[in-house]
Amino acid sequence: MSLYSWKHGIALSCLVIFLTTIPSRLWAQNTLPAYDLLLSNGHVLDDKNHIDAIMDVAIKDGHVAKVAAHIPSTDALKTIDVKGLYVTPGLIDLHVHVYAGTGERNSYAGDNSVPPDGFTFRVGVTTVVDAGCSGWRNFEDFKDRIIDRSKTRVFAMLNIVGAGMRGGKYEQNTADMDGVATAGMALKYPNTIVGIKTAHFEGPEWIPVEQAVIAGTRANIPVMVDFGTDRPTRPIYDLMTQKLRPGDIYTHMYSGLRHEQDPVTLGPSKALVEGRKRGIYFDVGQGGGSFKWSLAVPMIKDGFIPDSISTDLHITSMNAAMKDELNVADKIMAAGVPLKEIVAEMTSHPAREIRHEELGNLSEGSIADVAVLRLEKGKFGFTDMVNSRLDGNQKLICELTIKDGKIVYDLNGISANLWTAKLDPNEKEAYRWSTFAPRPHAGAGTDTEH
Ligand SMILES: [Zn+2]
Repeated sequence: MSLYSWKHGIALSCLVIFLTTIPSRLWAQNTLPAYDLLLSNGHVLDDKNHIDAIMDVAIKDGHVAKVAAHIPSTDALKTIDVKGLYVTPGLIDLHVHVYAGTGERNSYAGDNSVPPDGFTFRVGVTTVVDAGCSGWRNFEDFKDRIIDRSKTRVFAMLNIVGAGMRGGKYEQNTADMDGVATAGMALKYPNTIVGIKTAHFEGPEWIPVEQAVIAGTRANIPVMVDFGTDRPTRPIYDLMTQKLRPGDIYTHMYSGLRHEQDPVTLGPSKALVEGRKRGIYFDVGQGGGSFKWSLAVPMIKDGFIPDSISTDLHITSMNAAMKDELNVADKIMAAGVPLKEIVAEMTSHPAREIRHEELGNLSEGSIADVAVLRLEKGKFGFTDMVNSRLDGNQKLICELTIKDGKIVYDLNGISANLWTAKLDPNEKEAYRWSTFAPRPHAGAGTDTEH
């Protein structure tokens, strides 16, 4: 063997070794279409990008890859025709209580909270913000127990009370309201803690609000206020004009418990008007006892619409007048706010309020959280905290929810093929667009999940 052919032989065998050790998936990837999933012919409502039109949405590797008038289905592994449906960014519920599972009775750091995944994807929600169930003392337990184990994206607002929302004796303890310690924990988890919450305070002092603002200022995050018991020593006008900062959030805006409404005009009180002028955000937070038609209808008629639509989901509200995020949205719609604005109030607006503007939009390159909604027409009734009703003729139903590019909820199986249909070879790649098991191919394992 000559030197030349000897060297050539080594080079050739190296090439053979190299070729045979390339993972087969790498080869397969080269032949895959450009997109994993394509939602075609849907009516896209994307407030941030000013889109209100029939568009196709293509998803690849967990991100929005393209939004255009026509994307051929041959460019995608999987195409779902969503004609007649609305395609929106994944919804953000700005006010929930999900610190469940500690076993503590009569506590939002326990039995009064609900596990998030059972209440979110089925109504198009992909992100929730826990509004103050935990404080700086127990946030890490909440994170370990719920946040890190949920499929829903869970953010938290830390309660200004160190012990969190554990009931009366804790929540009235002004000695445990430490803005500096609270800010310290918020700064330790900047990707998860998005705000500071003060709530349920009965006393005459400003301590909870003032300490919450200290924490929010140090950690550079907003404060959300549930203004507790109405007290003449701390009027809502001063809260709006002096105590809160622009960008802070007032929740329970239609409760009527703390002079939100002008008694003469029935529109918003002077305090709320001044607050909005200063840049304070107003959030619905229906909950069990924080939403009255006698406020919502005239205030909305007067133009005082929400910045964000949220549920205040917990065990007492979940089966009462408040049902879920879409039910609260239906109510605001029934009171006269158009659908396009309703969607903004559940997507781009709450994303801005918590300063996570990478969410709540369908910009190319953004995280592929998507809700596919149907606007059903009919006769529907919507109730408030005093069990009075407003009738409406439309209602949102969630058909499909996508989180991080994968289908996590599909009400009517629009992503599934008929069981009698010929097996689609692309289904082998179904893990790219779905969390559901594809139909087994011949020769596939028979393992099933129970
Ligand atoms: Zn709440």
